[in-house]
This record gives sequence, C-alpha cells and structure tokens, in this order.
Amino acid sequence: MQTRRSLMKSSLSFSVLSLLASGFIDQNTAGATTLKKLSLTDAEWKKRLTPQQFQVLRHDGTEHSFTSLLLHETRSGIFACAGCALPLFSSTTKFDSGTGWPSFWRALDHAIVTKTDMSLGYERTAVICRRCDGHLGHVFDDGPKPTGKRFCMNGVALTFRSAAA
Ligand SMILES: [Zn+2]
Repeated sequence: MQTRRSLMKSSLSFSVLSLLASGFIDQNTAGATTLKKLSLTDAEWKKRLTPQQFQVLRHDGTEHSFTSLLLHETRSGIFACAGCALPLFSSTTKFDSGTGWPSFWRALDHAIVTKTDMSLGYERTAVICRRCDGHLGHVFDDGPKPTGKRFCMNGVALTFRSAAA
C-alpha cells in the first residue's frame, strides 16, 4: 500500500515538475501550485494567431472536418495549445474517430476545463484551455476505453511537438 501510494505521488509530481520547468505554473513555499494564466486582448491575440486560429480559439469557431494536418499525425509526442503552448494531449491517447477532427480519449493533467455549450440549440460540452481560456473543441461520451470520452478537437487550435525532436 505504501509503495503504491508513493508511486502515485511520484507520477503526479512528475507532471507538475514538467509544467514548472516549462514556466506554466508557479509554486509557493508551501508547495502549492497555480497555473500562470495567459490573458490578452483581441488585438493582441490577432497578432499572435492566424485568422483561422483566432476564429476557433477566441470566437468558438469550428474548422472544416478532414482539413487538419494533425488528423493523420501518428508520431509520438505532445499536442499543445496553439494560443499559449500549454501541453494538452499526449499522442498515446489519440485515436481515429472517423469524424475528421483530431480525437483523444483523455486530456493531460492541468490542461483543460469544460463548460456547457448551447450554441447549436442542444447541450454540448465545450473544451477550453485552462491557461488562456481558448476554445479547443468539444468532448462527447462515445469514445473508446478506458475513459469512454471523445475529445473532438480543432486541429488548428493545436500544435504538435514530436517526442523525437
Ligand atoms: Zn491555451
């Protein structure tokens, strides 16, 4: 039991440590961590993002299906937010959902928040970057095991960094 608990603790610490090393979170003297939010004006976002990224991330847009170059990305690596570079998904949780949008069955720790989206007249769950509040896509309950979740992402809202690079 002790061994199992320390194993779980060490894997959690690793995740926090990698975010600390990347400068995405602060840690106070008591060891508590807070994510460093990135908050910009629309004008500032427009300078950082392509028009399509701006439309999706800042105005809840949706890219056309089967248009993302990341759809067929199969190398091992990390998918990060195109707005603020926060790591969001691991390639180990990516799968081909057949929908035409990059799909994952789990988000990384500390990565995302969700909110109810009624924009199409029925309830969906929007997925938002926890650091910059950018709109990423939606999550559905028809995904594969082990989570049963399908994170249906706009590829334009993501950037990919190969583990080999
Ligand atoms: Zn972000």
